Amino acid sequence: MESILCSVDLSPASKSVAAWAILVARRLNLPLLLFHAIHVPSDPLHPSTEFERGGDLAHRRARSSAAIEKLMQTTDVTWRIEMASGDPAEMVQQYCRTHHVALVVAGSQGLTGLKRFFMGTVVERMVRMLPCPMLVVRPGRPVPRQIRVIGVCCDRSEDGRVLVTRAAALALGFKADLSIYSALEAALDPAVGEPVEVPYGEAQSDLQMRWQEKLVAMVPPGIRESLKVTVHLAFGEAMDEIPGLVRDRQPDLLIVGVRNRSTLGQWMAGSTTETLLRQAPSPVLAVPTGSLTSSLGLWGHPNLPPQNGPTGIVRDDAFLAHRCAGRHPENHKRLEGIYAMLDAVEGTLPLTSIVSGAASLEDLTQVHDLAYVLRIAATAKQDYTQLTPDTYACSRSYEAASRAVGAVMAAIDAVANGAVRNAFVPVRPPGHHAEVSRAIGFCLFNNVAVGAEYARAVKGMQRVLVVDWDLHHGNGIQHFFEEDPSVLYISTHQYPCFPGTGHYLEMGRGRGEGYTINLPLGKGWGDGDYVALYQQLVAPVALDFDPDLILVAAGFDIHKQDPVGRMRVTEEGFAALTRILMEVAQACCQDRLVLVLEGGYHVKALSASVRAVLSELSDQTHADPAVLAIKAKARRVRPVVKRCTHVHGHIWPCLCSNK
Ligand SMILES: [Zn+2]
Repeated sequence: MESILCSVDLSPASKSVAAWAILVARRLNLPLLLFHAIHVPSDPLHPSTEFERGGDLAHRRARSSAAIEKLMQTTDVTWRIEMASGDPAEMVQQYCRTHHVALVVAGSQGLTGLKRFFMGTVVERMVRMLPCPMLVVRPGRPVPRQIRVIGVCCDRSEDGRVLVTRAAALALGFKADLSIYSALEAALDPAVGEPVEVPYGEAQSDLQMRWQEKLVAMVPPGIRESLKVTVHLAFGEAMDEIPGLVRDRQPDLLIVGVRNRSTLGQWMAGSTTETLLRQAPSPVLAVPTGSLTSSLGLWGHPNLPPQNGPTGIVRDDAFLAHRCAGRHPENHKRLEGIYAMLDAVEGTLPLTSIVSGAASLEDLTQVHDLAYVLRIAATAKQDYTQLTPDTYACSRSYEAASRAVGAVMAAIDAVANGAVRNAFVPVRPPGHHAEVSRAIGFCLFNNVAVGAEYARAVKGMQRVLVVDWDLHHGNGIQHFFEEDPSVLYISTHQYPCFPGTGHYLEMGRGRGEGYTINLPLGKGWGDGDYVALYQQLVAPVALDFDPDLILVAAGFDIHKQDPVGRMRVTEEGFAALTRILMEVAQACCQDRLVLVLEGGYHVKALSASVRAVLSELSDQTHADPAVLAIKAKARRVRPVVKRCTHVHGHIWPCLCSNK
């Protein structure tokens, strides 16, 4: 069972440290451990106590015990004493590494001047050494009878978001209000006008409002309703602004995250956390980011458990019946290769079949014009119809195309109702170029666009993220959702290239401004480059957007062997991109991720890449994107990050840190 460890040095300060520990132990219903390390300090600045002067160890232990008992005599919580000899910080750390400790409570003197310079670092050292959260008490201040306001400092990282969810759970446990403190750097340089038409001040306050909403939304539903949440936002650097916010508001308890950084980094840069540990008037609960998922005794169980369902796959022979008259890169052999691979891995990959059917006329006309759908339906009466110079339909193409859309809808149903955790939908014909009333680029119906619209309009999802990593720009998806802020479309594509769209400045219109993000790339991008771009841009924006579902227009024509493209991605790269999106899906939407096949014209490379993606989706492999990101070429990635930040910085708070 977990316990709360209260580190007491038996100085006069111990009284308020113990009082705090009792307060927390009572509320969390955890046993309390009074930990005392007997040592003779070599540091002359350390405040001495009577226990540190003379006497043999046994005698000192007995006297310490008596003093602790006196300290605890009126308490109603369960407690016991643990003693050790040695440096207190090291002894506490050692104990925490070998026992289940939910929280360490210790006092910090709030020293000034030179003393603080030496002594202050002892507490900071302890905070960085501990594997669990630590409550740093200010001994000079009265212990509140009740905790009314819990404050939490939040930055734009994923850890920041998790910290808010934990703080919310704790506030709920204490029946306290939650205050979120955050700083936001200005997104735009007022000297540069392009490309935003809104005035500078308006763009900034708009950004502030979005970030504020985002912060409130971090509090998990289910907790949000029973908690009073306020956000205190400042414009500027966190290290300059947050301490001021905290000083003005003075919460009863302040929660901050602690990242393990290199020693050099600590000395050179300091951090908001260190400043708060030294200066905040309130007691500080310092939380190492590594302990956010453990220490459940402290946090309770605020998150929904992750789904551990299987990975779904749709297989339908109707997709093979879409046949071209002559040679064509988009032919049935692509899918035959994938089916052969699926037969070969049967039993080794835990996949679940999703049963699907054809999309109805009503489904298709959610996105496409009725006249257009009827025109495609009419191709079933002809042996062969050349719709555009590169787009064809045979007599069974309408059936294949409407079943392809149906397959995407069935996969969305399956992830939405929890039958599967995520899904891969290998369909033909592909879809992301198809426009509202026009077949183009091998595409008849826009599988992903109809899927996104279905998720939104029928399944009631508020925000759908569409990521398109196909070699080509998904003009059809972009155009359909251009003015819609509920669907965020992010595309990486070779540029210039077919179909010619996908410039940075195609960024959505009206209410949808900022919800189309185009990342046009030069030739030759490899695994590392893609992964770095996904880590630096796609994932942070996706987390900001906080989707209810992620759809991927998964084209494999960025593979290095692909005859159409000039990119250099391998199976390993596809696995890493999948892993990054799985992590976003886990953070935002209970793993709901559906990948839909678009391009990919080298039959062997295609099936090998799909296999790598399936093995990642089903957790049979765990790609480490960081390993690939090391290989990224900064000269490729940096300009794209910079340009995108310039265009979208006023919309997406996470991009501010890229400047
Ligand atoms: Zn393509």
